[in-house]
Amino acid sequence: MIGLNKIHELPPILADQIAAGEVVERPASVVKELVENAIDADSTEIDVTIEDAGLKLIRVVDDGNGIDPSQVQTAFLRHATSKIAEQRDLFRVRTLGFRGEALPSISSVSNVVMKTSTGKTGVEVSYKGGKLVDQKAAEARKGTTVEVRSLFYNTPARLKYLSSPNTELSKISDMVNRLALSHPEIAFSLVSNGRELLRTSGRGDLLQVLGAIYGVKTVSKLALVKASELDLKIKGYVSLPELTRSSRNYISLILNGRFIRNYPLTRAVIEGYGSKLMIGRFPIAVIQIDVDPALIDVNVHPTKQEVRISDEPAIGKLIAEAIREMLAQKQLIPDATRDF
Ligand code: ADP
Ligand code: MG
Repeated sequence: MIGLNKIHELPPILADQIAAGEVVERPASVVKELVENAIDADSTEIDVTIEDAGLKLIRVVDDGNGIDPSQVQTAFLRHATSKIAEQRDLFRVRTLGFRGEALPSISSVSNVVMKTSTGKTGVEVSYKGGKLVDQKAAEARKGTTVEVRSLFYNTPARLKYLSSPNTELSKISDMVNRLALSHPEIAFSLVSNGRELLRTSGRGDLLQVLGAIYGVKTVSKLALVKASELDLKIKGYVSLPELTRSSRNYISLILNGRFIRNYPLTRAVIEGYGSKLMIGRFPIAVIQIDVDPALIDVNVHPTKQEVRISDEPAIGKLIAEAIREMLAQKQLIPDATRDF
């Protein structure tokens, strides 16, 4: 028995559970981490299945590169990643993940079965509360399937803190919508208790994804905005002033394929409308921003939704001006900016 005043290293599973507190806040965070792994594996199709708002089952099936059987246990170790290798890689991260925390965190607070194959032999591993309980050969179809069951069964405090199933499900649905908007080139589906909530074509058409999420009527009131400057590019769709919402949550920013939260850039979108929005009304917008990865620091927060951008004011200016110009043109020649 270790005395309370003795300093000792925590057992790995306990350390993983503590880390899980940051990475896996709720079922939607599990969905985010698993889908991001699928995106990083160059998948073209990602199917998410949910039962009972993720507490009974979260399943993510991808057709990506898979993990070699000899490496599958390493993937569940903390700080184990294939995405960066040395310090300078931190400053040119192109993948969504790189911290090597998701799989050990998720598996420490649930039961996980992962089936994966690089296209040769396949393997299936099962973890319960962070411990490997089974490993066997599996089918060789290229891709990865992860099933998470009994989430938070061993962390009752976390379980109690969750909202109602409807709220948790809507957070999952928002998360998948954002991931789909960030990657129109990937075909996404989300099915909850047998009901399909989202399906995108994967044809790379952002407007199609917007249609699948917000409906065709909304899409007919969106206009294309596009601008570039040196190695900075922005492209997206924003609503005409006649279509607004009472919250800023419909302004989506995607930086190098990563959905981000950024107040100054959200403000820049609103600024682009000048006096055309009524007080308390906000547009629907999706803006894809592409910059040199060296200019952004994604290693600020475990969930990586907050990032530091070195030339943020320049990006804001470009966004606001592009929207301002589009709206001015729209007043002159209606429909001139439609892209389809
Ligand atoms: P990170 O994504 O930060 O590297 P994770 O714990 O999420 O850390 O995953 C660990 C490693 O497992 C990844 O670096 C990747 O090599 C592998 N991996 C996880 N999920 C998948 C997947 N769906 N397809 C292929 N490889 C995966
Ligand atoms: Mg990851």
